[in-house]
Amino acid sequence: MTLQTLPPYRDRALIGGEWISGTATTDVHDPATGAIIAQVPALGAEEADRAIAAAERAQIAWRARPAIERADLLHAWHALVLCHKDALAAILTAEQGKPLAEAAGEIAYAASFVRWFAEEARRIDGEIIPAPRSNQRVLVWKEPVGVVAAITPWNFPAAMVTRKVAPALAAGCAVILKPAPETPLTALALAGLAEEAGIPAGLFNVVTGDAQAIGGAFMKSPVVRKLSFTGSTAVGQMLYAQAAPTLKRLSLELGGNAPFLVFEDADIEAAADGAILGKFRNAGQTCVCVNRFLVHDKVHDAFVEALAARMDRLVVGPGTHPQSTIGPLINQRAVTKVEQHVADAVARGGKLVTGGALDHDLFFTPTLIADVPADAIIAREETFGPVAGIIRFSDEADAIRMANDTEFGLAAYVYTRDIGRAMRVSGALEYGMIGLNEAAISTEVAPFGGIKASGQGREGSRHGIQEYLELKYVMMGGL
Ligand code: ADP
Repeated sequence: MTLQTLPPYRDRALIGGEWISGTATTDVHDPATGAIIAQVPALGAEEADRAIAAAERAQIAWRARPAIERADLLHAWHALVLCHKDALAAILTAEQGKPLAEAAGEIAYAASFVRWFAEEARRIDGEIIPAPRSNQRVLVWKEPVGVVAAITPWNFPAAMVTRKVAPALAAGCAVILKPAPETPLTALALAGLAEEAGIPAGLFNVVTGDAQAIGGAFMKSPVVRKLSFTGSTAVGQMLYAQAAPTLKRLSLELGGNAPFLVFEDADIEAAADGAILGKFRNAGQTCVCVNRFLVHDKVHDAFVEALAARMDRLVVGPGTHPQSTIGPLINQRAVTKVEQHVADAVARGGKLVTGGALDHDLFFTPTLIADVPADAIIAREETFGPVAGIIRFSDEADAIRMANDTEFGLAAYVYTRDIGRAMRVSGALEYGMIGLNEAAISTEVAPFGGIKASGQGREGSRHGIQEYLELKYVMMGGL
C-alpha cells in the first residue's frame, strides 16, 4: 500500500474548486524514516490572492443559503471523514509521525468538530432587546464575518483544520487554509472530502507553499476579515501586528507552558495516569502538553516512582507499528531543543531518573528528571518533547505562584482530593483551561483557548462559532 493509492489522498492545492499543481514543489517527509513521501505545490502570494478572490465570490451565495442546507453539507462532510478514517489516519501518521491509534483518534476528534458545528449552524439566532421608546424595536442579527484565513500547525494536521474550517463554513464564511508545510496531505485530503460532500467550490481553499508570502497576502487583503491561527507565539505576535492596518478579527492559539500540580492529598496513581496522557501524547508535541510538574514534597518520591513505572511501558517506534506509543519528533530542530532542555535541567542539578537521550534518528527516549530547579529552561520554555521535569513545592500558595510565573496561560492541570483546594486553586490559576483530576481536556463541546501570551479567542463549543459572526443591530422606529 502506498499513500498515493489511498482514496482521499491529494497532492495538489485547491483554489476555487480547481486542483492546482505548482511549477515548484515542496517535499513532504515521513519523520520516522526521513523519506520523501510526497511533493506539494510551492505557491505564493499570487495564488493566495486568487484563492481570496474565489472565496469572496463563493461566500456571497453561501451566506444566503438556509442554515439547514449549510448544516446538511457539513453533516455529509462529517460522514465522509469517518468513512475514510483509516486512510486519513495512515496519511496523517505518514507525514506527522504519531502512532496510528493516536492518528485515528485525531481523525475522530477532527470529525467531531465538523459534526458539532453542523449542529451549531442551525442555532445562530439573534436577539430582540426591549427598546427605549414604545414605537421602536431593537433587533440583533448575526452575520458571517466574511472571508476567513486559517493557518495551522503540524502537530494536529486534521483537528486544527476542522476546528477552524467547520465553524467558518457553518457561520456562512468562506475559508482559505494554509496548512503547515510539514503536514499538508491531511489538510488536502480533508478538503477533497469536503468537495466530495458537495460543499460548493471556493468555500474551502487550500494554498500550500511559502508561509511568509501566503500569510502576507492574507494579512494585506482587506477582503480577509478574519484570521484564525494556531502556532508559535512569535509568529502569532507578528500576525497580530500585520492585522492592524486592516483591523482583522483574530483568533490566536499560541504556545503554552502547562503546569501539572500534584498536591499531597492527590490520588497519586490517578495523577501518574494523567501525567502519561498529559505529557506523552504525540511524543509531548501538543500545545496543552504538560511542560512542568509541580509536586508537593511529601508525595514527590511516590509520584516519581509511579510515573517512572508507567513510562517503562511506553514503546518508542514508528507510528506504523501497532505497539508504538512514542513516535518520532517532527524534525531535527525539535530534537535539538529537547536535548538542550534536558542538558540544562541536569546541569542545574536535576536528577535523571530515566531516559535522557536520543533513541535513534528523530526518536527521543521518554525522559524523567526529578528535582528540577524552577529556573531551568524546561520550566520556563515550551519543550515540545517527551520529557517530564519534576519541581518540588511545599505549600499551596507557592505552587500557585510558580504555576502562574510564566508569560503563557493555555492549560493547567491540578490533582487534589480536597474540594475546597480544587476550587481555590482552579480559581487562582491564570489559564484558559484547567484539567481538575483530568488530563484529557480537549473536546469539541468545550471552549478551547488561552490567555496572556497563549493567545485569544476560543475554539469549539457554542462559543467557537461566535468567532466567525458579527453582530448587526437594527433600530426600528416609527412603529
Ligand atoms: P512551528 O515552529 O511549530 O512550526 P510556527 O508558528 O512557525 O510553529 O508555524 C505554525 C504555522 O504558521 C505553519 O503553518 C507555518 O507555516 C505558519 N507560519 C510560519 N511563519 C509564518 C509567517 N511569517 N506568516 C504566516 N504564517 C507563518
